[in-house]
Amino acid sequence: MPHPQSRALGLSPRYGAFIDNAFRPVAGLTFPAAAAATGEPLADIARCGADEIEAAVAAAEAAFPSWKARAPEERAACLHKLAAAIEADAERLMLIDTLDIGRGLWETGIDHAIAVAQYRYFAAAIVTHEGFGRPIPDGYLIAKREPYGVCGQIIPWNVPAIMAAFKIAPAVAAGNTVVLKPDENASLSTLELCKHIAEIFPPGVINVVPGFGDEAGAALTAHPRAAKLAFTGSSEVGRIVSVAGAQRLVPVSLELGGKSPNIVFPDVAAADIDAVVDNVTFAAMYCNGQSCLAGTRLFLHEAIYDDVMSRLLASMARIRVADPTSQGPLLGCLVSEKQGRRVQSYIDIGRQGGHLVTGGERVAVPGCAAGWFFAPTVFETTNSSRIAQEEIFGPVLSVIRWKDYETMIREANDVRYGLAAGLYTRDLSRAIETADRLQAGNVWINNYFNLASGSPFGGFKESGIGSEYCRETLNMYTHLKAITVQTQIKPAWYAPKA
Ligand code: NAD
Repeated sequence: MPHPQSRALGLSPRYGAFIDNAFRPVAGLTFPAAAAATGEPLADIARCGADEIEAAVAAAEAAFPSWKARAPEERAACLHKLAAAIEADAERLMLIDTLDIGRGLWETGIDHAIAVAQYRYFAAAIVTHEGFGRPIPDGYLIAKREPYGVCGQIIPWNVPAIMAAFKIAPAVAAGNTVVLKPDENASLSTLELCKHIAEIFPPGVINVVPGFGDEAGAALTAHPRAAKLAFTGSSEVGRIVSVAGAQRLVPVSLELGGKSPNIVFPDVAAADIDAVVDNVTFAAMYCNGQSCLAGTRLFLHEAIYDDVMSRLLASMARIRVADPTSQGPLLGCLVSEKQGRRVQSYIDIGRQGGHLVTGGERVAVPGCAAGWFFAPTVFETTNSSRIAQEEIFGPVLSVIRWKDYETMIREANDVRYGLAAGLYTRDLSRAIETADRLQAGNVWINNYFNLASGSPFGGFKESGIGSEYCRETLNMYTHLKAITVQTQIKPAWYAPKA
């Protein structure tokens, strides 16, 4: 039986690839989108492959010259209209994501607000980012930025609205056209976004090709006319995408995994400890722990260890594990059975090597029999343990006791990732020194997850290459070209005299 809300939400029963502003009829195989919490079917989605990628790239290629030639103000106007359309449709889109991936409405609402801000940010940024020039002897140098052409983009499932916005907004603002592959676990809100895109953008500028990674994804990264690749997902697949780009010598930007430290110093004021605990809880449990940025390694100084731990456990106990469609802050279910089993296996590993302090159990939520819900889970462990080193992508926090500053810094950096970090202290100079020494693309002092359009977002080490969310992103989506102009044709220096 289809999910009772799928018709009221305006979902199409079947989605083909979105190419040239229209959904193609589904010809071949499909895969189901099902509600993460109940397992009820939401829609069937075309399992695209090389043929659809070829058609989408051809459409994007045909649309590129005229899209590139449009004034930045015109491209910006389309992005502003898309932002307004999402804003007006946000309640529907956020419910679609909540059903599709199991995250609470309060979170998916934030996703769409961030996506709206991201479209507006790049609409504004591109208008002031068109190149620069300077005089040279007897002439003028024009250095300008030019879009690459067709961008092949691949995104994961955890925050679909944000991921689509991070990829589409800078690419099309800069004058590129796009072929985007959403994740097979979370395609619906991106496919619904296409219905707005069709009303706003010229055909072929934004094309969406759903499907599986090793089919549609691999065909897109291998396509000879995809001039730039942008990927967000796991470091393992990032490496595959990077190799595909290297084989064709096209630029690749990567936003990958994380295992971020969240460090509490002993000088935190007693009056601030509850706020620190709140940040720490949020950092680990937001997005049901399925965030690349999650603060999953908590470094607690021994002087405040017991106090913070007892309040942390109380904070974890207050978290409501609930049906994701209910209102208010809650911990919903993981996106799929596969992800649930992965988290369960890490909990089992953690039980062998660390001390389970709370959680570790699957939770049954009435009416959501298919959902993989877990109680917030906290382990006391060491930085070298597997649960502290590997990205779990679930509501599991590893707590590590520290005493010596140098050892703590070494351990905080002793991980393959380098996406984010948080730290809490009253000592500003210590905070800045620590921020400088942490190998992470984002360091938050006295808070966590503090992101706004315009702040660079990208990883060190195996967390990625490139920066999204900021003006620098426009450079990632453009070549730099130099044109020199001289007013007269003069002989070159070696020209023979007549
Ligand atoms: P994933 O790497 O398994 O999949 C991501 C995307 O890649 C999906 O669309 C998938 O279909 C596609 N894909 C898989 N194999 C492919 C292949 N061979 N060729 C081309 N495409 C392929 O990741 P996931 O499980 O969907 O997402 C979780 C991961 O994403 C985590 O590691 C998380 O940290 C990371 N992530 C990073 C950021 C960031 O900005 N740094 C944001 C969100 C998620």
